[in-house]
Amino acid sequence: MASELELNRTLSKVRTNNIALLIYGGQIRLNSLQRTWSKIENDPEFHKSDRPFKNHSERYVDACRKIKRFQEVAEEENFQSLDEVYDAYMAIDENLPIDVHLSMFIPIMTMHTSSEQKERWLSAAQSFRMIGAYAQTELAHGSNVRGIETSATYDVATDEFIINTPSLSSAKWWPGGLGHTATHAVVYANLILKGRNYGPHPFMVQLRSLVDHRPLPHITLGDLGPKQGYNSMDNGYALFDRVRIPRTDMLMGFAQVSSAGEYSKQEGAEKIAFGIMLDVRARICTNSAYVLARALTISIRYSCVRVQGFVDNSGRNPQERAVIEYPTQQRVLMPLLSLAYALHFTGMDVKRSYTAYTRSGDTSLLSELHASSAGLKAYITAHVSEGMESCRKMCGGHGFLLNAGFSDLYTSYLPFSTLEGTKEVLQQQMGRFLLKQYSTAFSTSKERPPVMAPSTLYLLEEAQLAHTQKHSGMGRGSSVDLQSILTLLEGGDESITDEEYAEAEEAILRAHSMRSSWCIATSAAAVGKWTKIQKQQDSGIREGTKTLDSVKGKGTAAQDPLLIASVELCTAAEAHSELLILRSFSNGIRSQSHSHSSSSGDKGRQMEGSQEEVEVESAVYLEACEVHALRLMLLLLGVSMLGRSSGQFLAAGAIRIEDFPMIGTSLMLLLLLLLLLLSLLLPPLLLV
Ligand SMILES: Cc1cc2nc3c(=O)[nH]c(=O)nc-3n(C[C@H](O)[C@H](O)[C@H](O)COP(=O)(O)OP(=O)(O)OC[C@H]3O[C@@H](n4cnc5c(N)ncnc54)[C@H](O)[C@@H]3O)c2cc1C
Repeated sequence: MASELELNRTLSKVRTNNIALLIYGGQIRLNSLQRTWSKIENDPEFHKSDRPFKNHSERYVDACRKIKRFQEVAEEENFQSLDEVYDAYMAIDENLPIDVHLSMFIPIMTMHTSSEQKERWLSAAQSFRMIGAYAQTELAHGSNVRGIETSATYDVATDEFIINTPSLSSAKWWPGGLGHTATHAVVYANLILKGRNYGPHPFMVQLRSLVDHRPLPHITLGDLGPKQGYNSMDNGYALFDRVRIPRTDMLMGFAQVSSAGEYSKQEGAEKIAFGIMLDVRARICTNSAYVLARALTISIRYSCVRVQGFVDNSGRNPQERAVIEYPTQQRVLMPLLSLAYALHFTGMDVKRSYTAYTRSGDTSLLSELHASSAGLKAYITAHVSEGMESCRKMCGGHGFLLNAGFSDLYTSYLPFSTLEGTKEVLQQQMGRFLLKQYSTAFSTSKERPPVMAPSTLYLLEEAQLAHTQKHSGMGRGSSVDLQSILTLLEGGDESITDEEYAEAEEAILRAHSMRSSWCIATSAAAVGKWTKIQKQQDSGIREGTKTLDSVKGKGTAAQDPLLIASVELCTAAEAHSELLILRSFSNGIRSQSHSHSSSSGDKGRQMEGSQEEVEVESAVYLEACEVHALRLMLLLLGVSMLGRSSGQFLAAGAIRIEDFPMIGTSLMLLLLLLLLLLSLLLPPLLLV
């Protein structure tokens, strides 16, 4: 007899293989992935059943064994690209101590070095003859990188830099791989030339002997010890007591020091150098979709097979219902499933923008890229962590067992909300960018038309609408018509045309643009208000002095308008991030639905089936019902975001007060339609 799970799978109209082709970008990649994954799954060295019983030291030793085997697999499979290495790495499902080596050290070496340095280091790093750490954070300074104390003072007499951590608080603290594994580190230190401090720059420092792996003289190294999770990693500390390195070991890709101690740098070097973060953030976004999908797979599978509660309360029928049938269960899991798909497309978009930037070298793209990737990283890591915890809770007591798989998944993911910048810091960066865009959009200068970043063009539309409204005296009248969306849904999925879906999507996206615009305007108003008060105080006007006096004692933040308005800036970043995520999801779906109407739907598949397989990014893999499932998910996600922040949508005029009750009804209808279409299907994202 078929199990509950098998039954659910056979009932579904959605073909999971099509979804897998979409997620993994075609048959060639899927085949290669499946081959690598099955190799790793069947290799005893990578087994993980005894993992929950191991402590930090045992997991570290285990992880080192896995690194060795991983290298052998890389050779056996003859991996040609870093992407293939990452794919295999994901299958191991353990943070290996070479994590930072792969994700930071090698990319930095590729981007931040001169061609001579690349030749010297890159192939050694790629073949693991040197293993690197990324040492930026110190015991006393994390978010504020400019506050670090480690120095690199140039000694012109010997043509060397002297790397020094002058105090305990300047100890490098946290770098992955530093504890035991790394032979080298890219160390961030203040560059001191002829007594002048040029700020933090990267330096290659050898940490351990390549003969016996002992720390080199004047370097103190150690492991931070057990952590909440991530225990296969040796996050460590390092102290440098006037360690001398050759001048040529400063990473000279964007800034250089001559033997005479003269400093030069490329225009915009700081921004370009920071570009490496974009790659890391893009990977965090795509990885987040994958991690959330794994937690959902556990939770939705469990919800399909776990029966709890009699179907008939009379007590005559012993049959119980599956917990997925409870709307309260669906209400938590289905929007999260939608988020997982949306994040997949968002990650692809961030990656595409990063690739476009690296190919063109167009530094004018950097501000927007930095802001988007910072805000998205902050939003995604926060919501995915919460989402994973919700998945655990939806599995009742069973979810609490380590063997359920949540704990490791969750605690290994948690650091991503901290490393590369915490939510509060990154959202402010996005908020400040939005503020600038807002003032450009609403600038009254007639000479120069405003030049907007593509992601914030909606602010210009809002500015134009506001202008028209002011001069015509007409109201906006453009709030989202939830009633017509509801009426549409009530007909059932099969009666909804592609055009009607597209219209409903447009309406939801428009509501999100209005809400985001309102949030940015609110933060601009807050900054404006505090700037005015500040100016009044500076010019001795009593009003301003009084207000500032009233917040005295609440810290120096009261002196900086951008800081006082930082909560509003974070809210604006949250709203803009949700808009970006919905847009990426919508564009991803459209790329699959367009060709259905132009009947080129099978092109991608035919090409993959042929001898000379050519994979194109625009290939269409989905059937109409699969596209519908994604469209329902997009609406579900958009409406549940709207429900969470309904006050902002209301204030922005994106919804009307009388529409409030319709939010809950729309959500329930969307859940129903989605579950009907999926036939309580498992998240296809992972069924490969
Ligand atoms: C598992 C793990 C691995 C790591 N790996 C590395 C690595 O390989 N290399 C490396 O160099 N570092 C690494 N780090 C360090 C990481 O980058 C820092 O922890 C991070 O940048 C935050 O710095 P902090 O811990 O000093 O927090 P702090 O800067 O002390 O911040 C504490 C809190 O204060 C608030 N805050 C701070 N500044 C602001 C602000 N400007 N505005 C508003 N609120 C603010 C935030 O709420 C923040 O959460 C790792 C950290 C972890 C947890």
